[in-house]
Amino acid sequence: MQNTIWDPQHECMPRDEIEQLQLERLQATLNRVYKNVTCYRTKFNERGIVPEDITSLSDLAKLPFTTKEDLRLNYPYGMFAVPLREVVRIHSSSGTTGKPTVVGYTKNDLKIWSNLVARFMTAAGVTPDDVVQIAFGYGLFTGAFGLHYGSETIGAAVIPMSGGNTDKQIMIMQDYKSTVLVCTPSYAINIADRIEKQGIDPKTLSLKVGLFGGEPWSEAMRREIESRLSLSATDNYGLSEVIGPGVAGECRCKCGMHISEDGFIPEIINPETCEVLPPGSVGELVLTTISKEAFPMIRYRTRDITRLDYGVCECGRTTVRMKKTMGRSDDMLIIKGVNVFPSQIEEVLVAIEGCEPHYQLVVDRKGAMDTLEVSIEVTEHIFFDEMKKQRAFLEMVEKKIDTVLGVGVTVKLVEPNSLPRNEGKANRVIDRRQL
Ligand SMILES: [Zn+2]
Repeated sequence: MQNTIWDPQHECMPRDEIEQLQLERLQATLNRVYKNVTCYRTKFNERGIVPEDITSLSDLAKLPFTTKEDLRLNYPYGMFAVPLREVVRIHSSSGTTGKPTVVGYTKNDLKIWSNLVARFMTAAGVTPDDVVQIAFGYGLFTGAFGLHYGSETIGAAVIPMSGGNTDKQIMIMQDYKSTVLVCTPSYAINIADRIEKQGIDPKTLSLKVGLFGGEPWSEAMRREIESRLSLSATDNYGLSEVIGPGVAGECRCKCGMHISEDGFIPEIINPETCEVLPPGSVGELVLTTISKEAFPMIRYRTRDITRLDYGVCECGRTTVRMKKTMGRSDDMLIIKGVNVFPSQIEEVLVAIEGCEPHYQLVVDRKGAMDTLEVSIEVTEHIFFDEMKKQRAFLEMVEKKIDTVLGVGVTVKLVEPNSLPRNEGKANRVIDRRQL
């Protein structure tokens, strides 16, 4: 299989060169934000820090974090590091509460952004020969425009379809022979449902690659989309506060998303204590942008939980890979002093044959001890009647979860379809502790 790399110079740099480049760009960014953004200057001053104090990448830990709350307080243009005259595009992210977040781009930012998107699209297998159907909603949201300009940068043909109208999506897909589908993973499932209902064989479509982002999704969902749409489904990561899509994306190895480290410095922190965790730890991703002009972000707390892998990837890229996001730091449970994310348990369960991805966690406290009980649904035909086999199966699942979490659990098997269906995380976790 052809393995094209969009920007070999920046995607395949030796580690020491990446770090040298990051330090230079970080220092330049800090000088600019200190001079031009009141919020940063005030926060640095409060800590008695000036940009010159940052002389190595590890000094990054001395800098204050930036949160969504900072962006809200400086709404709409307070975090811009250039005069509005130099801004050529404005996007915004939907605020779940209150005002949305406003982000801006200079001409140069747009060029950088398009190239970052071109990188992960190329890594996923998109070429100038492709026809890219973008089924993200066009508008203030960064997804559609990000992928649109990235496709044009590569030289592929873009169909700016926008979201919704699934029947028309399918008609266009058939008639225009779209080879690449861009949307959220859940919308890809919707399209697959409709294709099935219409009796269309997905193999008769021209789809080859799917670029799915904008929400977290599991490996099980990847397998489902790949078989039902007959394409290679890849994940990519970005958030509008940081740039939009283009922070990271999977190569064809599908073993983590390569972060464009010449544009972003990633850190993993403990979301409770805010301390920086050693390489390989699971925690909250914090990103610092080092190539953006209009809207630089210093140590932005993404609230997304992931893990970084600095190992060498088979594709030849040397950039660090982030694992699929495992949920939000807001969902974290602390059990016996250990940080537990429901998605870590889900990850274990989907890998075990006979387990359905439906589970419920009950956290309780007996005396001074926290307890965690995991109820899992099993498939129809699994040995409810054979005690010995059931015992062995339970022990195996308990051991696997214990290995991943570092917390002992009790596993209970329940009948298929007996747990409440997933309407968000709340149903999956019952915390009975009186904390
Ligand atoms: Zn790779």
